[in-house]
Amino acid sequence: MLIIGPPGSGKGTQAERISERLGVVAISTGDIFRANVKGGTPLGVEARKYMDNGDFVPDSVTNEMVRNRLSQDDARNGFLLDGYPRTIAQVDYLDGILAAADQELGVVLQLTADDEELVSRLLGRARETGRSDDNESVIRHRLDLYHQQTEAVVARYARRGILAQVDGLGGIDEVTDRVLGSISEQAGVYRPPAGL
Ligand code: ADP
Repeated sequence: MLIIGPPGSGKGTQAERISERLGVVAISTGDIFRANVKGGTPLGVEARKYMDNGDFVPDSVTNEMVRNRLSQDDARNGFLLDGYPRTIAQVDYLDGILAAADQELGVVLQLTADDEELVSRLLGRARETGRSDDNESVIRHRLDLYHQQTEAVVARYARRGILAQVDGLGGIDEVTDRVLGSISEQAGVYRPPAGL
Protein backbone atom coordinates (compact mmCIF):
# COMPACT_ATOMS: atom_id res chain seq x y z
CA MET A 1 0.00 0.00 0.00
CA LEU A 2 0.91 3.64 -0.33
CA ILE A 3 0.49 6.60 1.98
CA ILE A 4 0.32 10.00 0.32
CA GLY A 5 -0.17 13.38 1.93
CA PRO A 6 1.10 16.93 1.88
CA PRO A 7 4.15 17.83 3.97
CA GLY A 8 3.11 18.02 7.62
CA SER A 9 0.09 15.75 7.23
CA GLY A 10 1.65 13.18 9.58
CA LYS A 11 2.22 10.49 6.98
CA GLY A 12 5.50 9.32 8.54
CA THR A 13 3.91 8.95 11.98
CA GLN A 14 0.88 7.11 10.63
CA ALA A 15 3.04 4.95 8.35
CA GLU A 16 4.97 3.66 11.38
CA ARG A 17 1.77 2.84 13.21
CA ILE A 18 0.16 1.09 10.25
CA SER A 19 3.35 -0.85 9.71
CA GLU A 20 3.24 -2.13 13.31
CA ARG A 21 -0.43 -3.01 13.20
CA LEU A 22 -0.35 -4.77 9.85
CA GLY A 23 3.13 -6.23 10.13
CA VAL A 24 4.38 -4.82 6.85
CA VAL A 25 7.59 -2.88 6.39
CA ALA A 26 7.25 0.92 6.08
CA ILE A 27 9.59 2.49 3.54
CA SER A 28 9.94 6.27 3.55
CA THR A 29 11.81 7.84 0.65
CA GLY A 30 12.33 11.03 2.70
CA ASP A 31 13.94 8.98 5.52
CA ILE A 32 16.17 7.10 3.10
CA PHE A 33 17.33 10.36 1.55
CA ARG A 34 17.95 11.95 4.98
CA ALA A 35 19.96 8.89 6.11
CA ASN A 36 22.09 9.19 2.98
CA VAL A 37 22.60 12.92 3.49
CA LYS A 38 23.71 12.25 7.05
CA GLY A 39 26.04 9.46 5.97
CA GLY A 40 27.54 11.62 3.23
CA THR A 41 26.98 8.96 0.54
CA PRO A 42 27.02 9.93 -3.16
CA LEU A 43 23.21 9.53 -3.19
CA GLY A 44 22.98 11.86 -0.18
CA VAL A 45 25.24 14.47 -1.77
CA GLU A 46 23.04 14.43 -4.88
CA ALA A 47 19.72 14.45 -2.98
CA ARG A 48 20.73 17.29 -0.72
CA LYS A 49 21.00 19.70 -3.65
CA TYR A 50 17.23 19.40 -4.04
CA MET A 51 15.94 18.67 -0.55
CA ASP A 52 17.19 21.82 1.14
CA ASN A 53 15.22 23.89 -1.37
CA GLY A 54 12.12 21.73 -1.06
CA ASP A 55 12.44 20.47 -4.64
CA PHE A 56 11.83 16.88 -5.67
CA VAL A 57 14.92 14.78 -6.12
CA PRO A 58 14.96 13.89 -9.86
CA ASP A 59 12.81 10.91 -10.84
CA SER A 60 15.77 9.03 -12.28
CA VAL A 61 17.55 9.07 -8.90
CA THR A 62 14.45 8.40 -6.81
CA ASN A 63 13.09 5.62 -9.01
CA GLU A 64 16.33 3.70 -8.96
CA MET A 65 16.57 3.99 -5.19
CA VAL A 66 13.01 2.71 -4.72
CA ARG A 67 13.57 -0.18 -7.10
CA ASN A 68 16.60 -1.26 -5.08
CA ARG A 69 14.80 -0.93 -1.79
CA LEU A 70 11.74 -2.88 -2.94
CA SER A 71 13.93 -5.71 -4.20
CA GLN A 72 15.05 -6.48 -0.64
CA ASP A 73 13.66 -9.53 1.14
CA ASP A 74 11.57 -7.69 3.72
CA ALA A 75 9.41 -6.15 0.98
CA ARG A 76 8.61 -9.40 -0.74
CA ASN A 77 5.33 -10.01 1.06
CA GLY A 78 4.06 -6.47 1.01
CA PHE A 79 5.15 -2.99 2.01
CA LEU A 80 3.90 0.44 2.85
CA LEU A 81 5.53 3.15 0.79
CA ASP A 82 5.56 6.60 2.38
CA GLY A 83 6.39 9.54 0.13
CA TYR A 84 6.50 7.73 -3.21
CA PRO A 85 5.23 8.12 -5.90
CA ARG A 86 4.94 11.92 -6.03
CA THR A 87 4.95 12.42 -9.79
CA ILE A 88 3.10 10.71 -12.64
CA ALA A 89 6.41 9.44 -13.98
CA GLN A 90 6.99 7.76 -10.61
CA VAL A 91 3.52 6.16 -10.78
CA ASP A 92 4.40 4.64 -14.16
CA TYR A 93 7.75 3.44 -12.86
CA LEU A 94 6.19 1.84 -9.78
CA ASP A 95 3.61 0.11 -11.99
CA GLY A 96 6.52 -1.44 -13.87
CA ILE A 97 8.27 -2.63 -10.71
CA LEU A 98 5.07 -4.16 -9.36
CA ALA A 99 4.16 -5.86 -12.62
CA ALA A 100 7.62 -7.41 -12.86
CA ALA A 101 7.31 -8.74 -9.30
CA ASP A 102 3.74 -9.91 -9.85
CA GLN A 103 2.57 -7.61 -7.06
CA GLU A 104 -0.42 -5.29 -6.98
CA LEU A 105 -1.34 -2.22 -4.95
CA GLY A 106 -4.04 -2.86 -2.38
CA VAL A 107 -4.80 0.57 -0.96
CA VAL A 108 -3.59 4.09 -1.58
CA LEU A 109 -4.24 6.15 1.50
CA GLN A 110 -4.33 9.93 1.23
CA LEU A 111 -4.08 12.03 4.38
CA THR A 112 -5.67 15.44 3.95
CA ALA A 113 -5.28 18.74 5.81
CA ASP A 114 -5.54 22.38 4.82
CA ASP A 115 -2.47 24.38 3.90
CA GLU A 116 -2.53 26.86 6.77
CA GLU A 117 -2.76 24.06 9.34
CA LEU A 118 0.16 22.32 7.63
CA VAL A 119 2.32 25.43 7.60
CA SER A 120 1.74 26.00 11.28
CA ARG A 121 2.49 22.36 12.15
CA LEU A 122 5.71 22.43 10.13
CA LEU A 123 6.85 25.70 11.65
CA GLY A 124 6.27 24.08 15.05
CA ARG A 125 8.34 21.06 14.01
CA ALA A 126 11.06 23.39 12.76
CA ARG A 127 11.37 24.92 16.23
CA GLU A 128 11.62 21.45 17.79
CA THR A 129 13.80 19.47 15.40
CA GLY A 130 15.39 21.97 13.06
CA ARG A 131 14.88 19.95 9.85
CA SER A 132 16.77 21.89 7.21
CA ASP A 133 13.77 22.05 4.85
CA ASP A 134 11.33 23.36 7.48
CA ASN A 135 11.39 27.12 7.01
CA GLU A 136 8.41 29.04 5.73
CA SER A 137 9.38 29.71 2.13
CA VAL A 138 10.64 26.14 1.60
CA ILE A 139 7.51 24.76 3.31
CA ARG A 140 5.27 26.76 0.96
CA HIS A 141 7.26 25.55 -2.02
CA ARG A 142 6.86 21.90 -0.90
CA LEU A 143 3.11 22.48 -0.56
CA ASP A 144 2.95 24.03 -4.04
CA LEU A 145 4.71 21.00 -5.51
CA TYR A 146 2.25 18.74 -3.74
CA HIS A 147 -0.67 20.57 -5.33
CA GLN A 148 0.95 20.83 -8.75
CA GLN A 149 2.26 17.29 -9.06
CA THR A 150 1.18 14.90 -6.35
CA GLU A 151 -2.55 15.62 -6.51
CA ALA A 152 -2.46 14.26 -10.06
CA VAL A 153 -0.97 11.07 -8.62
CA VAL A 154 -3.84 10.83 -6.14
CA ALA A 155 -6.37 11.39 -8.94
CA ARG A 156 -4.82 8.58 -10.94
CA TYR A 157 -5.30 6.11 -8.07
CA ALA A 158 -8.81 7.41 -7.44
CA ARG A 159 -9.68 6.44 -11.01
CA ARG A 160 -8.36 2.97 -10.33
CA GLY A 161 -10.76 2.70 -7.40
CA ILE A 162 -8.12 2.05 -4.75
CA LEU A 163 -8.00 5.45 -3.03
CA ALA A 164 -8.96 5.88 0.63
CA GLN A 165 -9.04 9.47 1.89
CA VAL A 166 -8.62 10.22 5.56
CA ASP A 167 -8.83 13.54 7.38
CA GLY A 168 -5.42 14.12 8.97
CA LEU A 169 -6.72 16.71 11.44
CA GLY A 170 -6.99 15.71 15.08
CA GLY A 171 -5.01 13.72 17.62
CA ILE A 172 -2.50 11.11 16.44
CA ASP A 173 -4.52 8.18 17.88
CA GLU A 174 -7.73 9.52 16.43
CA VAL A 175 -6.19 9.72 12.97
CA THR A 176 -4.71 6.20 13.35
CA ASP A 177 -8.17 4.84 14.15
CA ARG A 178 -9.61 6.55 11.09
CA VAL A 179 -6.79 5.24 8.93
CA LEU A 180 -7.16 1.63 10.07
CA GLY A 181 -10.92 1.79 9.64
CA SER A 182 -10.58 3.16 6.17
CA ILE A 183 -7.99 0.59 5.11
CA SER A 184 -10.27 -2.14 6.31
CA GLU A 185 -13.16 -0.80 4.25
CA GLN A 186 -11.05 -0.30 1.17
CA ALA A 187 -9.12 -3.57 1.08
CA GLY A 188 -10.31 -5.81 3.84
CA VAL A 189 -6.67 -6.25 4.89
CA TYR A 190 -7.23 -5.12 8.46
CA ARG A 191 -9.93 -6.47 10.74
CA PRO A 192 -10.12 -4.71 14.09
CA PRO A 193 -10.52 -7.05 17.05
CA ALA A 194 -14.10 -7.33 18.32
CA GLY A 195 -15.03 -4.43 20.54
CA LEU A 196 -12.87 -1.84 18.80
P1 ADP B 1 7.66 16.09 3.12
O1 ADP B 1 6.53 15.25 2.63
O2 ADP B 1 7.38 16.78 4.41
O3 ADP B 1 8.19 17.05 2.10
P2 ADP B 1 9.57 13.78 3.17
O4 ADP B 1 10.36 13.41 4.36
O5 ADP B 1 8.57 12.80 2.70
O6 ADP B 1 8.87 15.16 3.59
O7 ADP B 1 10.54 14.18 1.95
C1 ADP B 1 11.58 15.09 2.14
C2 ADP B 1 12.23 15.46 0.81
O8 ADP B 1 12.79 14.29 0.22
C3 ADP B 1 11.31 16.03 -0.26
O9 ADP B 1 11.09 17.42 -0.12
C4 ADP B 1 12.11 15.70 -1.52
O10 ADP B 1 13.19 16.59 -1.70
C5 ADP B 1 12.69 14.34 -1.20
N1 ADP B 1 11.78 13.26 -1.64
C6 ADP B 1 11.15 12.35 -0.85
N2 ADP B 1 10.39 11.51 -1.59
C7 ADP B 1 10.54 11.89 -2.88
C8 ADP B 1 10.01 11.44 -4.12
N3 ADP B 1 9.15 10.41 -4.19
N4 ADP B 1 10.40 12.08 -5.24
C9 ADP B 1 11.26 13.09 -5.21
N5 ADP B 1 11.78 13.60 -4.08
C10 ADP B 1 11.45 13.00 -2.92
